[in-house]
Amino acid sequence: MRIGAHVDSADPLSEATARAADAVQFFLSDPQGWKAPKPREDADRLRAAEVDLYVHAPYVINVATLNNRIRIPSRKLLLGHATAAAEIGAKGLIVHGGHVNAGDDLAVGFDNWRKTFAYAADAGGFALPVLIENTAGGDNACARRLDALARLWDALGDYEVGFCLDTCHAHAGGEELLDLVDRVKAITGRIDLVHANNSKDTFGSGRDRHDNLDGGTIDPELVVAVIRAAGAPAIVETPGGVDGQGADIAFLRDRLAVGSPAA
Ligand SMILES: [Zn+2]
Repeated sequence: MRIGAHVDSADPLSEATARAADAVQFFLSDPQGWKAPKPREDADRLRAAEVDLYVHAPYVINVATLNNRIRIPSRKLLLGHATAAAEIGAKGLIVHGGHVNAGDDLAVGFDNWRKTFAYAADAGGFALPVLIENTAGGDNACARRLDALARLWDALGDYEVGFCLDTCHAHAGGEELLDLVDRVKAITGRIDLVHANNSKDTFGSGRDRHDNLDGGTIDPELVVAVIRAAGAPAIVETPGGVDGQGADIAFLRDRLAVGSPAA
């Protein structure tokens, strides 16, 4: 079972070594910006690495929204990221479930997701698995609560879609972690990646503030149980850089009884 961290994108492999991580996630462009990712000079090295790579799409992407000026560039940016992520040999591209604006029909949001996959299919399909991630907040989210997730998966039925389960987002979003993996898999049939985070905020708060595994309001054993049940790689998106994330990774390895990567 691979365990890693979300790291700075400048030199992800060195970041992995510093944390004894065998997986890393990083951005390929400014997460708050609309610029398409540039080809990386270290692409050959990344592709050849033992470390598993995951790419997180920019936060600005919202393919569900009814706002054309956000939705259309979001589709394009997501497709561009999939191509760029495949170029470096990434295992998956993680993108948030998105939302519609207050007063807009969520059904249209789910259909916009379907259209996003149709748009990608017209261009030859996403070049690697796209993993939709559950989110913590909002009343009009496509992947906060499981009732919405089920409608999203219904809309995407024709396409190959992956899922990334974030424990902080689930807890803050109001989904109990106990047995959550079974309830998610009943909908999605799969969990490709776990974002193993604690939450600074309380259950159902709707706030998205990650904490280290031994901090926050979630019993860390529940995070361990989610990873074990999911049987998927885990990425910590926790504070504290090399020390904080290194300790979180070591904790998970210890509790899951999996070894460190060979030095
Ligand atoms: Zn996450």
